[in-house]
Amino acid sequence: MKPVKVLRTLYVVLILSATAPSAPTKTPPPDIFLITIDTLRADHVHCYGYTGVATPALDALAKDGVRFTQAFTPSPITNTSHASILTGLLPGSHGVTDFGVPLSASHPTVAELLKAQNYHTAAFIGAVILDSKSLAPGFDRGFDYYDNFPEHSSTKSRWGRLERRGMDVVEHAENWLSKHPAGPHFVWVHLYDPHDPYEPPAPYSQIYKDHLYDGEIAYADSALAHFITYLKRSGRYGNSVIVAVGDHGEGLGEHHEDTHGIFLYDSTTHVPLIVKLPGTRGAGTVVTAQVRTLDIMPTLLELASASAPQKKDGDSLEPYFVGKTEAARPAFGETDYPLRFGWAPLRSVRSEGFKFIEAPRPELYDLPLDPAEMTNKYEPQDARVQKSRAMLAEVRSKEAQLQGSSTPAPETSSLPDPKDKIEEQNLLHAAMVAAEDNRPADARKTLEKVLALDPKSATALLQLGELELQAGDYVQAAHHFKGAAEIRPDDAAALFHEGQALEKIHDLGGARDALEASLKLVPGQFEARLLLGQVYLGLKDSAAAEDQFEAALLLQSGSVEAQLGLADAQITKGNFAEAAQSLQALSKVQAKNAHLFDLLAKAYSGLGKKAEAQQAATRAKLLSQQQVILQQR
Ligand SMILES: [Zn+2]
Repeated sequence: MKPVKVLRTLYVVLILSATAPSAPTKTPPPDIFLITIDTLRADHVHCYGYTGVATPALDALAKDGVRFTQAFTPSPITNTSHASILTGLLPGSHGVTDFGVPLSASHPTVAELLKAQNYHTAAFIGAVILDSKSLAPGFDRGFDYYDNFPEHSSTKSRWGRLERRGMDVVEHAENWLSKHPAGPHFVWVHLYDPHDPYEPPAPYSQIYKDHLYDGEIAYADSALAHFITYLKRSGRYGNSVIVAVGDHGEGLGEHHEDTHGIFLYDSTTHVPLIVKLPGTRGAGTVVTAQVRTLDIMPTLLELASASAPQKKDGDSLEPYFVGKTEAARPAFGETDYPLRFGWAPLRSVRSEGFKFIEAPRPELYDLPLDPAEMTNKYEPQDARVQKSRAMLAEVRSKEAQLQGSSTPAPETSSLPDPKDKIEEQNLLHAAMVAAEDNRPADARKTLEKVLALDPKSATALLQLGELELQAGDYVQAAHHFKGAAEIRPDDAAALFHEGQALEKIHDLGGARDALEASLKLVPGQFEARLLLGQVYLGLKDSAAAEDQFEAALLLQSGSVEAQLGLADAQITKGNFAEAAQSLQALSKVQAKNAHLFDLLAKAYSGLGKKAEAQQAATRAKLLSQQQVILQQR
């Protein structure tokens, strides 16, 4: 142990002696503000040459900082792209390739590394998809405070439940900064507004009524202006680093893609990137070399004098700030989002004036001649194609090392090309938004259009089934889920939902088969075990019911429902003593559970304890009457 300790001490001494005396007029480390603006196309920002929108805050920031005209995200979806910004890693390296996939603790985030440098860290998000308690597990790592959404929301509106307006987000951030004045700070602010549905508040809803996407951008810019005014007023602006960046763009119908996520064209991968440095350093600089949002994390660490992690796919932008290089960096693109719908994932390389997209039908674009990526020049023998394929193979092997996995990439060449499916995806997305906004009739109509295009769209059948389940039309729900499960026999969720719907219409045999099939695929489903136990009780197969409730209790030992189910099965089997014992114990913490006392009455009666049985039955009746009264209120 000792030599290590000595070395460590020596190391600390060396670092101290290297930094302390050489900086007599040492300025404190800069505050760092990372502003990610969701769904922001570079070519829809005023300082990027677009005249259809006013973005005074971004324009002013560009005047005070360095503006990169050619910055690219490796991913066109929010969580994946943000994970790349926070870790400096490509999606295949950090592994967050879809919503809900945890960000592994083995990949340090910029927040963690700055916190280790005594930064005070906080994150303010504008969308529930970045909530670390639900769809973005692990994203809160390294943050002293992470502004998640309330766990239970009473509102049916999307505001406050799914999304926060930019002005709310920045106010949360400003309040936190006011309460935590001691620096240095690292604050991530996420403005979700430009993401669809496009519903800017007034006056932007009026000014931009014919192009609401731009209205959302103008509104997000006004929230940024509010935040920057706050920073200036509180004296934090001067010695700060401020990064403003889009997480991805928006299709806006180009290549027939309405929103984003499926394709890797520039419409969804080219984003604005502005870096304001401390003081007046670099003010007004415009860098035209191609860079990546992957480069943000190493840049921030360098600006904070922190060392970069060993594993990274991005590089600091510092050489561009000092005019040391104008070299373009190759930009890789990855999207696994199509896999969600059963379509092939895509990979791309953007380098030396061309873009190559690996797909079932590959694509090659000559960007100087064809910036809109309209004319596919792909030829397998083209040197650019061969070079791109070699680069992609290299990236894949590097990612496999970083992931520490040797699992081969899934065989996807037999899957449909997303280019053939984009109309379907636009409709599926519209239906999802309609369902989220409690417009089931719109959602239903849109999903029926998908099925007219593709009767075998399992995604559409699943979404329709869920709508009918919520609406209480269990016959229709069962029909849709059955259809989805036939198309995707390996989809445990489709089979579980089919079982749910069949149980509701008392087709217990059918429910049993669907639930057994679902659990064979994914054995650890608590809800499915519980429901199957109840189905077996209904089928009078108490031994099988007992097995399911016991399995459910292994998954969630405290579940009251599973304990009651087990007692019910024991009573049916005639095992009264065991049932009575566990019910008595449970009644101490579940004193108001009518079903419990009902079962206890049966157990006592089976044991011949008439008085106790009568007492429990009376209690059960009283409790269930109270419940009815409470429900009527
Ligand atoms: Zn996004």
